[in-house]
Order: sequence, then C-alpha cells, then structure tokens
Amino acid sequence: MKTCPMCDGSLKREDRMTVYTYKNHTKEIVQSGEYCVVCGEGFLSSKDLKASQKEIADFKRGVDHLLTTDEVRAIRKKLKLTQEKASVLFGGGVRAFHKYETGENAQSRPLDILLKLMDIGKVSVDDLQRIG
Ligand SMILES: [Zn+2]
Repeated sequence: MKTCPMCDGSLKREDRMTVYTYKNHTKEIVQSGEYCVVCGEGFLSSKDLKASQKEIADFKRGVDHLLTTDEVRAIRKKLKLTQEKASVLFGGGVRAFHKYETGENAQSRPLDILLKLMDIGKVSVDDLQRIG
C-alpha cells in the first residue's frame, strides 16, 4: 500500500468534493485522487487532473462569460469544420481547437466573440476566407 510522503499515513483512492474558487466564485467539483487517511493531503496524478479539467475549465468560462468546451465544439461542428481546419482558419496552432474543447486552454475573448457571431449567422466561413 502507498503511503503519504507528508506523514507516512496510508493513501486511499477516492472521489472527493473539492471547492474551487475563481474570481470570488466558488464551485464544488468531484476530484478523484489518492488521499491520505491521516492528514487528508491529496495526491493527484495527471490522469486525475485530466478528468476534472473540463469541468474546471467550464466553471471558469462561465465566470468569464466565455463559451464552454461543449459550446465551442457545437459551433465548430455547425460550421462544418474539423478541429484542424478550424485551427488553420482562426489561428492558434494546429491543436488550438483540441485545447479549447478539452479545457486545456481557453479561447481568447476576440475569438469567443467571433464564434458567437458565427453561431448566429452574422459572419460566415466564406467571409473569413475572403478577408483572412
Ligand atoms: Zn498524510
């Protein structure tokens, strides 16, 4: 059995409610990880962090009034663009949309506004290709 590097207590894998605070907003998120039964310290693997990444990203985007990971994906699909094509069209590197849709990175506010305008049909892919 694994032991805690802080106090030598034993570690137990469990899902814990964790409170995240962002710009004075708080949200409870279920965070899987190994937690010490003695001191309560949590040890999260990159896989554990990946699992909660999207939920945390969407919480922050809600506070910032940005599109959520799923909303970005839905708009991109509505525009009939692959992640690769969207990344070429809007810039930001080939993995840009993969990052916006998994919560690894947030889209910039100008891109967010542009995507919202495209979602309601104010700007088309053709418009972008013409002026881009
Ligand atoms: Zn401990």
